Amino acid sequence: MTKLKADYILTMDKNYTILKNGEIIFDEKIVEIGKNLKECEREIYLGENSVVMPALINSHIHLEFSSNKTHLEYGDFINWLHSVIENREELFISCKGECFKKAIEEMKKSGVCAFGEISSTGNDLRYLKHSPLKVVYFNEIIGTTPAAVDMLYQDFLARVEESLKLQNDKFKVGISIHSPYSVHPILMEKAINIAKTKNLPLQAHFMESKAERRWLDKGEGEFKLFFEKHFKNAKPLIKPIEFIEKFKDTKTTFVHCVYANDKELQKIKEINASIIHCPVSNRLLNVGLLDLERVKNYTIDYLVATDGLSSNYSLNLFKEIRAALLMHVNLHPKYLAIDLLKSVTTNAAKALDLNNGSLEEGKDADIISFKLPGKVKNLDLLPLQIILHTNEVQKLFINGKET
Ligand SMILES: [Zn+2]
Repeated sequence: MTKLKADYILTMDKNYTILKNGEIIFDEKIVEIGKNLKECEREIYLGENSVVMPALINSHIHLEFSSNKTHLEYGDFINWLHSVIENREELFISCKGECFKKAIEEMKKSGVCAFGEISSTGNDLRYLKHSPLKVVYFNEIIGTTPAAVDMLYQDFLARVEESLKLQNDKFKVGISIHSPYSVHPILMEKAINIAKTKNLPLQAHFMESKAERRWLDKGEGEFKLFFEKHFKNAKPLIKPIEFIEKFKDTKTTFVHCVYANDKELQKIKEINASIIHCPVSNRLLNVGLLDLERVKNYTIDYLVATDGLSSNYSLNLFKEIRAALLMHVNLHPKYLAIDLLKSVTTNAAKALDLNNGSLEEGKDADIISFKLPGKVKNLDLLPLQIILHTNEVQKLFINGKET
């Protein structure tokens, strides 16, 4: 048993309890949290202005692209997509052991205990099976050519089977449907059915760009040119609202949703799905900013994630939520800060089906600690100060073990 004592403990429980001079006792799970608790053989006071809170969860990344630094074209979604297709193989080949290790190390330093990895090839599996962080491994399906459906499905199935063999308390399996414009409906159906039978969480990119909106609504615009370049006679294969409906009775998170309309948000709410917001990625691809107020008005939970290094300069999750705090200029920073911390703890744990994200008895002891540069007199401002002043954590515990 370990006992940590900190000047501030942010529990992220239902009542959003903050303890001043608080204590937390844990082994693999959290045993007790409060003040003046029983003695333990191992007790650590974390020092002046120390903070203890749940470790963070980066719910959506593409580690396969971690070797990208300056290869890809930013500033326009379609140009970026062309550059991804052009550089894909080269980027994949140049990301091997050291590259994965570095990417995971960066997340770890920023207090991430678990991440949602979108894998389109399965090549990352051998590096991730020994990941120090918890992994939710989303096998991605992508492809629209009818003639290739069988081959793509067999490949996907083999990847799912391979990943299922690795399941343990730190490795979970999920399924990703790349997007409504890039997956044949037959493949969609089959992949979602696997998720239903095996009770696996799902993720899907949805309404990331204006081009996607125009293509799916009218079969026009930049995507038309894009598809004509790669395939003959391309037509949108599914209506956006039908796409969302396919995920009924599953645990799904839709990624981006910048151009989702009211009907679609209503549907997302109806099927109890959540939304992942990647503000830096959206900014770099210049697709606009998700209206968080609107998402909240539909009482949809949102999560913030970094996305891959294919559309970000960093996998540091504190930097990402700080960017969100500064970008959403119409929202009050004090309240937005609380929502942003929820988006990378409780909301993310719920969406990825993890038993962490808050400091409560019986939850996994996934805990971080760090120090603020000074005292915080008004505890209402603690979340904001945390987001402003934290880049790296001092301690990270995963299932109670310091990592
Ligand atoms: Zn993504």
